Amino acid sequence: MAALRRQDPEIAGILLGELDRVGCGLQLIAAENFTSRAVLAALGSPLGNKYAEGYPGARHHGGCELVDAAERIAVDRAKALFGAEHANVQPHSGSSAVLAAYAALLRPGDTVLAMGLAHGGHMTHGSAANFSGRWFDFVGYGVDPATGLIDYDQVRDLARAHRPKAIVCGSICYPRHPDYAAFREIADEVDALLIADAAHPIGLVAGGVAPSPVRHADVVCATTHKVLRGPRGGMILCRAEFADQVDRAVFPFCQGGAQMHAVAAKAVAFGEAASPAFRGYARQVVANARALAAALPEEGLEVATGGTDTHLITADVRPLGVDGHLARSRCAAAGLVLDTCVVPGGTTVAGGCVQGIRLGTAAVTTQGMAEPEMARIAVLLGAALRGEDGAVRGEAARLAARFPPYPALPAAAPAAPYAPPDAASHTAPSGP
Ligand SMILES: *Cc1c(COP(=O)(O)O)cnc(C)c1O
Repeated sequence: MAALRRQDPEIAGILLGELDRVGCGLQLIAAENFTSRAVLAALGSPLGNKYAEGYPGARHHGGCELVDAAERIAVDRAKALFGAEHANVQPHSGSSAVLAAYAALLRPGDTVLAMGLAHGGHMTHGSAANFSGRWFDFVGYGVDPATGLIDYDQVRDLARAHRPKAIVCGSICYPRHPDYAAFREIADEVDALLIADAAHPIGLVAGGVAPSPVRHADVVCATTHKVLRGPRGGMILCRAEFADQVDRAVFPFCQGGAQMHAVAAKAVAFGEAASPAFRGYARQVVANARALAAALPEEGLEVATGGTDTHLITADVRPLGVDGHLARSRCAAAGLVLDTCVVPGGTTVAGGCVQGIRLGTAAVTTQGMAEPEMARIAVLLGAALRGEDGAVRGEAARLAARFPPYPALPAAAPAAPYAPPDAASHTAPSGP
């Protein structure tokens, strides 16, 4: 850091400013977390310099002995952690893992049944703006609007009617555990492959607080940077029978050289996730999410499915007279950082209006917060959503300061302290 500050104060200032930003607000984005300093060390290591196309023992470059060892450790730890027959730890991101899974199992034009985007499917589950929607024929299932729960009868009916080549289970905002056995049974009935996109829950699976899709799905795609608390990246777990197809789909079909610094950091994260401390962390993540969800109705929010089994909460903000975008910008102005999300049955993102917010407890739990802080955060959220950002900001900053994500970092204050965006300055994105 000292070398960077001397050589490039502009970028060093941004790094320090980001530490200041996360240190003076509450990070409630369900997909984010704070990695350990050991993971950061691996990420910032010279392993990123090494070219390593291919797989351990079969590389297209010389000098790969040490990175081979790192990748073998990462693969072995992933297989042990999740009880998987095969693991590929090279996907650069969760989306890259999904692309590779489709490449391994499908051909362009195949029919795929996945959660519709208006109900919480990820853009890789058939968005017209994404490769998935362009190359495959997606059919969307949804949740029961009354309960917010996946309608398995509808999944079965759609599977029978469309005979998909694959069924995808996974979502960006479903707060309950998917019934993987039910998906497996439906897939078997129509002779479809089952792909679990467990990008969100995989960290809870590692911590033993969520059911594992590994036994049920043919291929499991995941990220390593959400609840799992590793580096930004993806991975694929699968049965031995799909190992070669999956490996060839990741490299050379979808990607070139593996990012060996990230692979080493994934190994570090898998090692951490196998510890008893991580199981305690995962339990607290869920306990915190439940405590937060339980306190939100009093603030006027309507919590989808009435609660959560996971780290994430989806809530309808319309009872407060705001839409998702205004909710997000009001909260950001108050130092509460969260996402908008769709409310099933409401208008889709493509329609330009989202009615919900998505909250997650992975990051604040890493910081050491527990149920009493969650109850307070619910009150702050309510006030921020009503537009009382000035009153909330100071308390949100004080709460965050009591639980610094990186206590030992850094010694220097940023050139300019972090100032949150003005609630009025926010414009809605037009992306997928
Ligand atoms: C986060 C997520 C992804 C993609 O992860 P990226 O690393 O952002 O590409 C894919 N699928 C689901 C369901 C996700 O939640």
